[in-house]
Amino acid sequence: MNEISSNFLREHNARQVWHPMAHPVEMETTPPRIIVSGEGVSIVDLDGKRVVDAVGGLWNVNLGYSNEPIKQAIARQLAELPYYSAFRGTTNPRLIELGARLVDILKVENMRRAMFTSGGSDSVESALRIARQYWKVRGKADKTKFLALKKGYHGTHFGGASVNGNQNFRRAYEPLLPGVYHAPSPFLYRNPFDETNPERLSDLCVAALEDEIKFQGADTIAAFIAEPVLGAGGVIVPPAGFMKKVRALLDRHDILMIADEVITGFGRTGEWFGARLDGFAPDVMCIAKAITSGYFPLGACMVNEKIESAFMNSDDTLAAIFHGYTYSGHPVGCAAAIACLDETFARDLPGNSAREGSFMLDAFGKLAARHDTIGDVRGKGLMLAIEFVADRAAKTPAGKKYMGALADAAYEAGALVRVSANVMIMSPPLVLERKDSQQIVDAVTHAVSAVRLDPAQ
Ligand code: PMP
Repeated sequence: MNEISSNFLREHNARQVWHPMAHPVEMETTPPRIIVSGEGVSIVDLDGKRVVDAVGGLWNVNLGYSNEPIKQAIARQLAELPYYSAFRGTTNPRLIELGARLVDILKVENMRRAMFTSGGSDSVESALRIARQYWKVRGKADKTKFLALKKGYHGTHFGGASVNGNQNFRRAYEPLLPGVYHAPSPFLYRNPFDETNPERLSDLCVAALEDEIKFQGADTIAAFIAEPVLGAGGVIVPPAGFMKKVRALLDRHDILMIADEVITGFGRTGEWFGARLDGFAPDVMCIAKAITSGYFPLGACMVNEKIESAFMNSDDTLAAIFHGYTYSGHPVGCAAAIACLDETFARDLPGNSAREGSFMLDAFGKLAARHDTIGDVRGKGLMLAIEFVADRAAKTPAGKKYMGALADAAYEAGALVRVSANVMIMSPPLVLERKDSQQIVDAVTHAVSAVRLDPAQ
């Protein structure tokens, strides 16, 4: 990068652009880091500083930044056919191939059809729409409401924001969709029942969900949506068996189950899909992010045999899918995804995620034993979180200044981590080697010891 262009970049950084998920004034006063290149699991900023990317792009760059097979697949596809529409009447070879691959990989969950999208929010939107349409096709037009978990994250379209369980993503955009209701999430560290036993908490949350179902009337509810492990809400790992109990409850009340696997898909949790952690089969699965390792924006909404047959057995025009995007089944994205699947299998990324994840979780657990500012450490595979507190007994969340200082100190020490309120979140590439995991652990350990600010700040 030459001097003139570096100066231009610094001068214009966050000046003509509003960045997602940030206050525009804050972005001007504390401009974002300019990441100019990536190699393996590391990124390099405009000053030439190289760090391990413990954020993994945004939970998505599972194969790191140097995966040649994906890059070549993209280049080949660009040369052959850079775009063609999949709207009624045309399709493309990569779309057909990827559809077949996904249905095969998701045989375990009985998924039968893929509807391609451009990303996670699109996949959630597609899932919510298909759920409503399914019930109309089945002659139960009253079933339109949605249930979701508090602290869940489902993207930023109006549908996704409506099922979102975090006020930050809702308040400024209200009113959202009517007919959406939230139940407590099975979060051991903080829950409205003050329950610390996982089994009991699980049962209490299932009971609260059932209470809401009965109150609304199951005959008015289309679907329940949840992440198998809640990501943006602070890496909340439900107690073992929770999702299976929810599945049984929904079955009893004839309500569809949508698993938002946008983060948990493709090995992030140590299993190929989050649903496999608990061995439950949803009706709909939303996937995106790591489907292309972030190299191209792509997603899909997968539906199971039950939904497939309802549409296939209907000759009503209501069963035509008047939904889709210009970039549904983009050939370049599909080519990237096929290469990505091959690489994920060949390198057993879910296995590596489980191994490196438990190494780091263990290391952070030991760190927590030495520092009172750590209130909780949690994670599954390479979805990890450390929750910082100003007062351990009262669980008072640590302040913004303290959290920012921690992130800066970790960066200086060699790892980019993500801070969301008082939670430090890590989701590094799944191709991480032990030396890289160690570098992240060392950087975080250094940060926790080096930052001397009052954690309440
Ligand atoms: N669902 C979940 C679980 C997510 O974590 C995200 C993004 N972090 C989305 C949906 C939205 O995906 P996108 O940002 O690609 O629209």
